[in-house]
Amino acid sequence: MPINDDLSALWDTVKDAMLDKFPRTSVDLWFGSFTLTDFDGSSATLVTDSDFKYRIVRERYIDDIRRYFELVGGYPVDVTLLCSVPGAAEPAAQPPVQAAAPSPAQAEPEPEPQKPTETIIGGTIPPFNFSYTFDNFVVGNSNKFAFAAASAVANNPAYRYNPLFIHGPSGLGKTHLMYAITNAYKQKNPRANIIYIKSEDFTNQLIESISRGAVSNFRNKYRFCDMLLIDDIQFIAGKESTQEEFFHTFNTLVESNRQVILASDRPPSEIKRLEERLKSRFEQGLLADIQPPDLELRTAIVKNKAESVNLDLPDDVVNFLAENLRSNIRQIEGAIKKLGAMSFVSGKPITMELARTSINDLLGGAEPVSVTVDKIFTSVCRKYGVTRSDLESTSRKKELAQPRHLCIYLIREVTGMSLPQIGKIFNRDHSTVINSVNAIEKKFRESHAFEVEVKEMIKEFRG
Ligand code: ADP
Ligand code: MG
Repeated sequence: MPINDDLSALWDTVKDAMLDKFPRTSVDLWFGSFTLTDFDGSSATLVTDSDFKYRIVRERYIDDIRRYFELVGGYPVDVTLLCSVPGAAEPAAQPPVQAAAPSPAQAEPEPEPQKPTETIIGGTIPPFNFSYTFDNFVVGNSNKFAFAAASAVANNPAYRYNPLFIHGPSGLGKTHLMYAITNAYKQKNPRANIIYIKSEDFTNQLIESISRGAVSNFRNKYRFCDMLLIDDIQFIAGKESTQEEFFHTFNTLVESNRQVILASDRPPSEIKRLEERLKSRFEQGLLADIQPPDLELRTAIVKNKAESVNLDLPDDVVNFLAENLRSNIRQIEGAIKKLGAMSFVSGKPITMELARTSINDLLGGAEPVSVTVDKIFTSVCRKYGVTRSDLESTSRKKELAQPRHLCIYLIREVTGMSLPQIGKIFNRDHSTVINSVNAIEKKFRESHAFEVEVKEMIKEFRG
C-alpha cells in the first residue's frame, strides 16, 4: 500500500473513533479539512489550508485529537497542527466569532457524555482495547488463586468469602478481576445494584457530601447496594473520617449478606495507618494475592493479547517480549498495542528488529535478559577465577560445581527465566537448575556471610 493511503486510512480511523464523542457533521466540519501528512509512530502532523479551522482546532480540539490517536494507536502520540496558508503561524488569541465558515456556535461539536461501555471503532485498525472479563483473564500459577476466589465470589456472592481482599503489585490484574466479577454478576442479575469505585473517589464523594450536608444520601447509596467493590483501598490509610464511614458501611453490608470486594497493592497487615478494626475485618474474609507472572504466564499473555488484536507475532518475538517485559502485564499490553499500530501503519509484519526497537522505551532502560545473564557470568567468573566456558561445559570438575550452582541460582533469582531455559544455557536440563538452587540454599544455612553476599549481588543485578 502506498504510504499516503496508509496515512489517510489511519487518520480516517482516528476520525471514526471521534464519533464516540462528536457528531459526524462536526467531525467532518472541523477535522475533515486536515490531512495526515506524516506519522512516524510517535508523532503525527496534520495540515489544513483553512486558517480558520486551524485556529479553532488548535484552540479547542487538539487534546481530543491526541486522545483519539492514543486510543487508536494504543500509545501517546504527539500531534502537530499546521496551516499551509500564510498568516496562521501566530497564536490565535480568541477563536474568531464571525467568519465565512458556519458559525462555531451552531457547528461546534457538542461533547456528548462518554458511553460507559467500549465502543467498537469502525475502520481498519482494531480498537486495541482489552475488556475485563473472566474469559480473557489468562490464568497461571501466580494468579490462579485470586482468579478462583473471584469466580467463586461472582457465582456465589456473600456466601463464604466476605470480604474478598485481592492484593498484589500494580499492573497484575486486580482491577481486571474486579470488573470481571461485576460483569459476571451483572449478567446473571441484570437489575443488581453494583458499585465499583476507587477509594479516592469514595473519599472525595464523602467529603463533598459532608460539605453539602448530604451525608445521608451518601450513606444510603453505599449501604443499600447489592455488591460493593472498592479498588485501591490502601489509599484510605490515614484518612480518619473515610475509615470511620467505611467501617459502618462495611459492617452494614457484610451483616446483611452483601458482598464486599477490596483490592490493594499490599495485604491489610502492611497498610500503615489503617485502623485495627478495619484490618481485622479485612482479614476475616479471604485474602487472595497475585504474584508477578512467571515466564510461562507472560508467554501465554503475550500470545493471548496479540491474538485479541489480530496481531500475528513470530515465535521469537513472542519469546523476546515475554522474557523482557517482566514487571507487569500492563506493560505487555502496551507493547502489543504499539506493535499492532506499527504493523498497521507500516503494513508490514512484525520482525524481531522492529520489536526490539519499538519496546526499548517500555523497558525503561532495563536491559534485556541476555545482558543480565552476561553480567552474572562475568561477576561469578571473576569471584571464582573460572571462565564462562568452564561453567557452560559438561565438565564435572569439583571446583566448577559451586560457581556453576551460584551462576544458576543468580540467573534464576534475577531474570525470571524458566528452569528449562536456564538449564539450556548450561547444556543441562531443568533438574540441574533445581539441584543448584537447593545447593545454594543449603550453603546459606551453613554460612550467613555467604547468604548476605549473594543477596547483595542479587540486589545489584536487579538494579
Ligand atoms: P492492577 O489493578 O493490579 O494494577 P489491572 O487489572 O489494571 O492491574 O491490569 C493491568 C492490565 O493488564 C489490564 O489491562 C489487564 O486487563 C491486564 N491483565 C492483568 N492480568 C491479566 C491476565 N491474567 N490476563 C489478561 N490480562 C491481564
Ligand atoms: Mg488497579
